Amino acid sequence: MNETNPREFWPEQPTRLEQLQKRSLELQQELGMLRKEFVDGFSEATFDYISEESAKEFVDKWLERVRKETGLLANADELGIRIFGDDLERQDKLPFQKYSKGVTISFDPDLDLTHTGKPTGQGYAEPGGKIKLKGPQPSQREQLRYFAANGKLHPTIANLVHELIHAFHHNKNLEIDSELGESQAYANGVVEALPFDSVESATEHISKDYDFSKDRIKSIIENILFLYSRGESTKAVAEKFRTLNPIFQSDWAVEEFCVKPIMKTEAISEEEKDEMTKGYLLKNQIDRAKAQNLFLEVFGDWMNQ
Ligand SMILES: [Zn+2]
Repeated sequence: MNETNPREFWPEQPTRLEQLQKRSLELQQELGMLRKEFVDGFSEATFDYISEESAKEFVDKWLERVRKETGLLANADELGIRIFGDDLERQDKLPFQKYSKGVTISFDPDLDLTHTGKPTGQGYAEPGGKIKLKGPQPSQREQLRYFAANGKLHPTIANLVHELIHAFHHNKNLEIDSELGESQAYANGVVEALPFDSVESATEHISKDYDFSKDRIKSIIENILFLYSRGESTKAVAEKFRTLNPIFQSDWAVEEFCVKPIMKTEAISEEEKDEMTKGYLLKNQIDRAKAQNLFLEVFGDWMNQ
C-alpha cells in the first residue's frame, strides 16, 4: 500500500475527484454570474464615447486593471507578445535571440494564401521569420471593441498570436514536429486557451487544415491543457516540447515524457486529469469575463472623471 496516497487512508472522505468536480461547479456558477453582470451592463453605444484618439488612454487604464486582477495577459507578457496596441507590426519585445531585431510583421488585405494549401489559413511565416497576415491591422479601438463585445481576441490578432508562437518555436530551435507546433500555436494559452470553443472543434480545425490524425491532435491538445491547468506557462510548455526527441510519434511522446510522470508522482487518475483540464478552461473563460466586466468598470470611472 502506498502510504503517501491520502485516498487510501481516508476512503470515506471525499476523493480528490469529487473536490475537483465541486470546484468545476463553483467555477460554472461564477462564470454564469460574471456573464450576467456583463450582459446587463454592456452597450455597443459605449463606443460612441471612445474615439480612436481616446482609445489609447482608455486601453492603458483597462489593461492595468486586467493585469492586476486576472491572469489573462501573463502568457502574452512572458513571451513579449504585444496585443491591444496600435502598432502591432512592431513586436520588438519578443525574447528572441535569432531574430534579435524583432520579427517583421505585415498585415495585407490582399494577401494571397493559395500556396499555403490550407483551406482556412489566414497567415504564414516566411523563412527568416517574416510574418504575413491576412487583413488590415484592426485599430486599437476596434481590438478593444471586439474583445469587450465577444470576450475573445479580434480574429486578425488571434492569427498574429498564432504565428508568433510558431516564431517562438523556431527561434528556440524547437524543431518540434508540425503536429506539436500547430497544436500549441492553437492551444496557446494567450488570452483564449483555444481560439475555438472546444477541444473537439480545435482538433477538427487543425486536422482539416493539415491532414493530421484527429486522435493524435486531440490527445496533444488535451495534454497541453492539462499542463496549463497545473500553472505551466505557454513558454514553459514550448520549452518542454523542445526536449522531446522527434524520432517518437508526437502524441505518444507528450503523453509519455511530459504527462505520465506527473500523473504517476501525484497519483492523478484519468478522470481527475479530465476534470483539471475542464477547470482550466473554465478559469480561462472566467478571466475573460472578468476582463469584460473590468471594461465596464473602467469605462464608468473614465466617464465620471
Ligand atoms: Zn500554424
